[in-house]
Amino acid sequence: MDKVKVQEKVNKIKEYISSNGYGDVNIIAATKYMTSEENRILYECGIKEFGENRTDVFLEKYEALKDLDIKWHFFGYLHPRKAKDIIDKIDCLHTLDSSSLALEISKRRTEVLECFICVNLDEEPVKSKSSKAPKASGVPYSKVKAFVKSLAKYPNIKVVGLMCVSKFTFDDEVLKQDFSKLNSLKEEIEELYLDHAPVNRLSMGMSNDYKIALKCGSTDLRLGHIFLE
Ligand SMILES: *Cc1c(COP(=O)(O)O)cnc(C)c1O
Repeated sequence: MDKVKVQEKVNKIKEYISSNGYGDVNIIAATKYMTSEENRILYECGIKEFGENRTDVFLEKYEALKDLDIKWHFFGYLHPRKAKDIIDKIDCLHTLDSSSLALEISKRRTEVLECFICVNLDEEPVKSKSSKAPKASGVPYSKVKAFVKSLAKYPNIKVVGLMCVSKFTFDDEVLKQDFSKLNSLKEEIEELYLDHAPVNRLSMGMSNDYKIALKCGSTDLRLGHIFLE
């Protein structure tokens, strides 16, 4: 990873955000393709927020980069059983998607944890007959509001926003529809003025579609391979 090129990339993205008037947008580097040393280079180029997908890799990097002032995000699927390994070390969880995970967090986390609800925009049924079946990937769209309300009983969970993973498509219209759908749900919940759930942020947009996501109201971009190009 060439530091000069990375710095140019970081500057270009920041410049795009500010010149288009998007204001308060967090750039979170999704660093699953990077080594700790590459995380360090990104940090030196001005990226202070990192997100990982796997608990074991997160723990390795957390130890290796302890000397830096990093805001750590986690946005992989988090099995409730694994929550205890990382839950006191992260600053923000993007993939809260079940009551059992919420319960684990409430038991294991000492301070308040910022959480995004991971939303499944398509409402596909989650298959769980065999252990090889796909893992839960978000709360079905129609159940999100009730789920957010149900979290009021956990004083250490603060629901800051909604999150979605973009479909694998190059069809801008499909992406726009999905991002807009998440944005309207966010606004609906935000207007409930729930004490435990301000829900005024949107974690959406990755390297290939972050410009569309910004147009649709994203406040938290999760960018990965764009830094390696
Ligand atoms: C890897 C990953 C990203 C970043 O993806 P890129 O396409 O490399 O920008 C964002 N969000 C999640 C949940 C990821 O796993």
